[in-house]
Amino acid sequence: MPQTETRRTGPSSFATLGLIEPIVRAVAACKYTTPTPIQITAIPALLDGRDVIGSAQTGTGKTAAFALPVLQRVAKMTTPRESKSPRVLVLEPTRELALQVEGAFERYAKHLRSVRISSAFGGVGKYEQTHLLRVGVDVLVGTPGRVLDLRLQSRLDLTDVQILILDEADRMFELGFVPDVRRLLGVLPPERQTAFFSATLPDPILRFAREVMHNPLRLEANRRSSAAPGISQRACFVESANKFPLLVELLRREEKGRSLVFVTAQRDADKLAKRLEKEGVAATVLHGGISQTDRFAAVDGFRDGSIKVLVATDVAARGLDIPGITLVVNLELPSEPKQYVHRIGRTGRAGASGTAIAICDETERKRFQGIQTLIRQDFEPLVDHAWHAPGIMDDVMHRPGHWRAPSLHPDRVRHHAVRIPPPRSRKR
Ligand code: AMP
Repeated sequence: MPQTETRRTGPSSFATLGLIEPIVRAVAACKYTTPTPIQITAIPALLDGRDVIGSAQTGTGKTAAFALPVLQRVAKMTTPRESKSPRVLVLEPTRELALQVEGAFERYAKHLRSVRISSAFGGVGKYEQTHLLRVGVDVLVGTPGRVLDLRLQSRLDLTDVQILILDEADRMFELGFVPDVRRLLGVLPPERQTAFFSATLPDPILRFAREVMHNPLRLEANRRSSAAPGISQRACFVESANKFPLLVELLRREEKGRSLVFVTAQRDADKLAKRLEKEGVAATVLHGGISQTDRFAAVDGFRDGSIKVLVATDVAARGLDIPGITLVVNLELPSEPKQYVHRIGRTGRAGASGTAIAICDETERKRFQGIQTLIRQDFEPLVDHAWHAPGIMDDVMHRPGHWRAPSLHPDRVRHHAVRIPPPRSRKR
């Protein structure tokens, strides 16, 4: 039986979690007053050198939960930094996330003068990225493909890595990065500290974690597959031909905020942005088919508010931390229900409020019901528009015995640590 330990999220501060003063000061400058549940459990465990499998609702402070203790451990390392040999490797599934997490490390390390951080991801010149590596870095944040590449070209040496963080582990699995991650693990020193962080922890990830970790502590700070409590989840029911005029109307209503619209295919994103432009709604696209420069420009413009509407594929569904997204529209419902939770997690970040609107047409009844079952919550229908199709709504919303959920009040969310027994044989 796994051992379960339930802790209260009582009054905790970053200092009482064991963090040193320069880190506490940097955190205070970020205006974090109290640690989040995943930070309360993960920070002491990682400071202790434990292997950790952490699952946390998207937007709940997962990055700081691993970055703060990692920085403290690095700050206390006494051996000199070596050229091309980082001491910490943080793997991220996308370039945007690698850049974002590198930025978070930089902010938290502001008062740690001796700690150097760098990143490595595709789509930008290797020279710039390896320049710092040659001088020597402590923390390298990168995507698995580029990290492997640099290693194969002998621009990077991983034999000194003492801490490995695999962030967004479930996304790594979905994107097929596991062979690359395994290859990287094969060259890391076996006596390292390892942590996996992920929004969801399906069985293949837990099995993989057991294989590559030593007596990991499992930390769960959220209900499985739930959305942040500040997100109001609404649903519109329309014939497919009416999705576009409805979207235009919703975006106009939101003109003071920032809206993120999800579609499935890259070409649909391009077409939609053009149609929106014709209607006088300026929109920018973000998907894997545009250049890296345009990807970064889209994220930066959306972050600084110069872009109000971003039309994106699921490349934007994970981890992107852009404060101030007030509306997320699922113009096409995802085929994987859990992708819905990731998409809407782009709003309601860090306790803010936001609205997520799922637009369901006659072909998407099953997808809609799949989402409702996963989130164990009824949507609040949004019917004050000209295209409402009551027939579709009745089909999916009002079945006898349909799930009627209690609200997901934060006080109801338990978090616990579960000890996982070590595997019988450890392969590296
Ligand atoms: P993450 O889940 O790591 O993407 O973090 C989501 C957002 O929460 C980021 O904007 C962080 O800057 C912010 N954040 C992280 N920890 C805290 C905290 N303890 N208090 C307030 N905001 C936080």
